[in-house]
Amino acid sequence: MAAQLIDGKKVAADIRAKLKIEIEELKSKGIHPGLAVVLVGENPASQKYVASKEKACAEIGVASFAHKIPATTTQPELIKLIDQLNNDTKVDGILVQLPLPKGLDEKEVMNRISPAKDVDGFGPEALGKLVLDEPGFVACTPHGAMKMIEAYGIDPKGKHAVIVGRSVIVGKPLALLLLRKHATVTICHSRTPNLKEECLRADILCAAVGKAKTITGDMVKEGAAVIDIGINVTPEGKIVGDVDFDAAKERAGYITPVPGGAGPMTIAMLMYNTVLAAKMAAGMKVDI
Ligand code: NDP
Repeated sequence: MAAQLIDGKKVAADIRAKLKIEIEELKSKGIHPGLAVVLVGENPASQKYVASKEKACAEIGVASFAHKIPATTTQPELIKLIDQLNNDTKVDGILVQLPLPKGLDEKEVMNRISPAKDVDGFGPEALGKLVLDEPGFVACTPHGAMKMIEAYGIDPKGKHAVIVGRSVIVGKPLALLLLRKHATVTICHSRTPNLKEECLRADILCAAVGKAKTITGDMVKEGAAVIDIGINVTPEGKIVGDVDFDAAKERAGYITPVPGGAGPMTIAMLMYNTVLAAKMAAGMKVDI
C-alpha cells in the first residue's frame, strides 16, 4: 500500500498563516518582530536559502534586515557585526547563514549571537536547554520535523524512532525532541554497523545524512513514518532527499517528499522562533 504523503508545504503554510495573524496583533501592541540575516560570500545555495527566508518574512510581516557581506570579511569584522545586531533593539532574531567561507570560525560566530536572539537554536544555551527539557529556542529543522509528525497525528509515545545522522543542527536535537515525546530513540551515523537492521526497527525513521538513497526501500518497516530531511542534488540537477522515495513509499505508512517536506517547515519554524524572540524581548509570557 502506498504511503500517505506528509505535505510539509501545507503544514508550513498553516503555521505561517497563524503567525501572520499573531504578528498583526503584536504590531497593534507596538511589537514589530525583526530578523537579521547575515550572508557572507556568494555561495549560490546559501543565496537561495536567504532569499526564501526573506520572502517568508515579507509574507507574514516580519521585518528582515539583510547583511550581505563579502567573502573577504574578516573574523573581527563579522564579530563586530554580530555585536551590533545583538545590541540593535529592532532585531529580535539573528540568523547567520552557514556554511561560512573558509577561514572564518563558525563556532565563535555562532556562540557570539546573544542567546535571546539565537532563533536558529544552534548556540550552547539553546542546546543545553533542550537537553535539560527547559523552554528555549529549538533548532528549526528538527522542530519542523516534529511539527509535521504532530500534524499527521503520529504520536511518538512508545514508538521506536531511528534517526540516521548525528549532527548538532539536525540529528541530535531531533533525537532529544523525540525522546521528549516519549519515543525510544536510536541514533545512527557513519560508523553504525547494520544500518539496515537498525532502520527496519523504526516506527519513525528520520534521515539527515546528505547522501541520496542512503535509505533504500528495503530499509523501511511496513507502515513506518519516514521523515526525509536530506537535501541532495543529483547529477541531472534534481533535488532529492536521503530516502529512495519511490521504493520507500510502497512500504511506509507516511512519508515526506523532497522538496516539499522538511525544507518549507524549517523556514516556517524560523519565523515561529523570531516571533517568539520578539515576544520574549517585549517581556510577554510565552508558551514554548
Ligand atoms: P552533517 O554532514 O553535519 O551530518 C551528516 C550525518 O550523517 C553525520 O552524523 C554522519 O555520520 C551521517 N552519515 C554520513 N554518511 C552516513 C552513512 N552512510 N550511514 C549513516 N550515517 C551517515 O549534515 P547535516 O545534519 O547538517 O545535514 C544532513 C542533511 O540534511 C543534508 O542533506 C542537509 O542538506 C540537510 N538539511 C536540510 C535542512 C532543511 O531545511 N531541509 C536543514 C539542514 C540540513 P558521522 O557523524 O559519523 O560523520
